[in-house]
Amino acid sequence: MKKLSYLLILTIFVWGCAPKPYYVKPNEWKTPDKKDSVINFYSKFLKGWKIFLDPGHGGQDRKNIGIKKRVVEADVNLKVALYLRDYLTRAGAIVFMSRDKDTTVSLADRVKMATESGADIFISIHHNAMPGDENTYYASTWYHAVEGDPKFHPCNRDLARYIQRDLAYALRISGSLASFDGTMSDYFVYPKQGFYVLRNATMPAVLVECTFFTNEYEERKLSIDEFNQIEAWGIFKGIAKYIQAGIPKIEILSDTILTSERPTFILKVSDRTGIDRQNIQIKIDSISVEKSFITSIDANSYLIILFTPNFNLSEGIHTLDVVVRNKNGNSSFPFKRNFYIRKQIGD
Ligand SMILES: [Zn+2]
Repeated sequence: MKKLSYLLILTIFVWGCAPKPYYVKPNEWKTPDKKDSVINFYSKFLKGWKIFLDPGHGGQDRKNIGIKKRVVEADVNLKVALYLRDYLTRAGAIVFMSRDKDTTVSLADRVKMATESGADIFISIHHNAMPGDENTYYASTWYHAVEGDPKFHPCNRDLARYIQRDLAYALRISGSLASFDGTMSDYFVYPKQGFYVLRNATMPAVLVECTFFTNEYEERKLSIDEFNQIEAWGIFKGIAKYIQAGIPKIEILSDTILTSERPTFILKVSDRTGIDRQNIQIKIDSISVEKSFITSIDANSYLIILFTPNFNLSEGIHTLDVVVRNKNGNSSFPFKRNFYIRKQIGD
């Protein structure tokens, strides 16, 4: 009897010391039905969206290896991207990839392929490293440039925020503490330059660094297929929630060939979640212009009339640049339109 109780105590002790599970399976995966219903729910928003996935490295570039040599970054990036493609495709999105096997693709070709695909958004997938520091790991999502820089556009940071939030939650790891919300500007690594693919992408773009392969514990997780699926799930939910939150649309209704040096523009801005009237930024040739008049067409759209009495635009090409935000705080995609000032005959 005594032996039995020792055995019982020993069993409880060993049980208590057993390593914790490596990761937490999403609640939504409890049954295949539930997982499918989540994908179906987001298909309302994702259907028809063109998404370009760029698994980093591969082919001749396989030098990034885990601290215990369990994983190669290029392979994990590809695995996550393929699972992500599966979730997005099942939700009705059209997915393009820079590579779907272990092949060499230059950075220039990645951007070129994305542009040629006509994708709406670009997602580059990577895993991070901190050489010489085995303790560091976190999730981070990167956007191009910093606020105030002409290359910065807030839509990239919006997308990064949504992905970062759901990725960090799915992985149950913290975001980078170098920023408030775990999103990072690529100028943090390369000041004034940023990452090649983000700098050159011709559509809204982010780069995801899921976690670190230079941390032994994280590397063990990265070598498990189910964990790679969870990484993809976090990114999938981030993209889906971003699109669910709405992206405002801008149209120019007035002519783009104008005969006045002080032209009037008519813009239509709309979003199904509503437009934030306080956050409308309009620039002509990089100089801010105040909107002259705004009137609602219906609950979700406005007409903006823009008189430019203080401008004296020379004959030739000029640029109109508009950013609006919706009530969820999401900014419109980059909207730049050239217009031409032509002097009237007889002037
Ligand atoms: Zn990488």
